[in-house]
Amino acid sequence: AADRTPEKRPEAVKVVVRCRPLNKTEIANGYDKIVDIDTKRGQIRLRNPKSENDPPREFTFDAVYDEKSRQAELYDETFRSLVDSVLAGFNGTIFAYGQTGTGKTYTMEGIRDDPEQRGVIPSSFEHIFSHIDRSENCQYLVRASYLEIYQEEIRDLLSKDQNRRLELKERPDTGTYVKDLCSFVCKSVREIEHVMGIGNKNRSVGATNMNEHSSRSHAIFLVTVECSERDADGETHIRVGKLNMVDLAGSERQAKTGATGERLKEATKINLSLSALGNVISALVDGKSSHIPYRDSKLTRLLQDSLGGNARTIMVANMGPAAYNYDESVTTLRYANRAK
Ligand code: ADP
Ligand code: MG
Repeated sequence: AADRTPEKRPEAVKVVVRCRPLNKTEIANGYDKIVDIDTKRGQIRLRNPKSENDPPREFTFDAVYDEKSRQAELYDETFRSLVDSVLAGFNGTIFAYGQTGTGKTYTMEGIRDDPEQRGVIPSSFEHIFSHIDRSENCQYLVRASYLEIYQEEIRDLLSKDQNRRLELKERPDTGTYVKDLCSFVCKSVREIEHVMGIGNKNRSVGATNMNEHSSRSHAIFLVTVECSERDADGETHIRVGKLNMVDLAGSERQAKTGATGERLKEATKINLSLSALGNVISALVDGKSSHIPYRDSKLTRLLQDSLGGNARTIMVANMGPAAYNYDESVTTLRYANRAK
């Protein structure tokens, strides 16, 4: 529930499903909607368009958002408390998962110039800086980094040198980190939005087809919030919370078109990191596993200190409502169901 505070140990992993509306082309082509959503019960039902006699597949999640869901609704019900916990010094990660074209970027970034359609990333900026403006006894420092993982290689989207690849390193005290990753101190919403804009421009550098590139790479926007507070004895306490917001690579099975060479290699790596993430999350949710397989991909290694432990995770599984999405939608719901 929304009123839980981090001290009361909210669920470590939360999985929600979001189904986008039919788009203009789908409506024009008369595509059937095969998805029924009961938002009150968090239930989603999927009809098999290829076999009328099959009983519909039914899934239940922490929350299910239908095509009428608004960005602010998701923020207030699902994301806000995680960002609050980051402000309180905990780490958190928000993932958008799903087939390309189902609304991952819409959920994370939204539509830039429409305040009603702002996604979780810009909404978190507003939230963080309005909290800081209201706070009286804390000195805050906000830093932003932005990186991309493509073919298991890390690129710093804020670096001047976009050809450089960064390495993951381990330190006994702070754990895994990206060596030489840029981070910019931001003092306002405008400044952090500016940083994000630079990263977004760099994301398309070298990509011949932006859509294709973004469907094959993971983009991670990282906000670090540091707060130093002086207690009654004049001692200073520092709390650091990290907020990772991840627009994952498209989950569609990449290799099915008979890809070869570079393409096949690329496809294999995308599938590998998404399945590694699924394994980590399901091990965390299971709670019985003593071994969490963080080491299996760059993505899970990089996010290790923000997945599990005291950290909170939200996975938004995005899907489309149309009949031709059936196979991918089943895969997405199964993946999300395993993470629950
Ligand atoms: P992805 O990042 O998963 O490939 P996008 O976020 O780019 O998908 O979404 C594809 C298209 O659908 C975009 O034009 C986007 O604006 C639109 N869209 C996605 N989700 C919604 C939604 N919930 N409501 C309205 N439009 C949406
Ligand atoms: Mg996208």
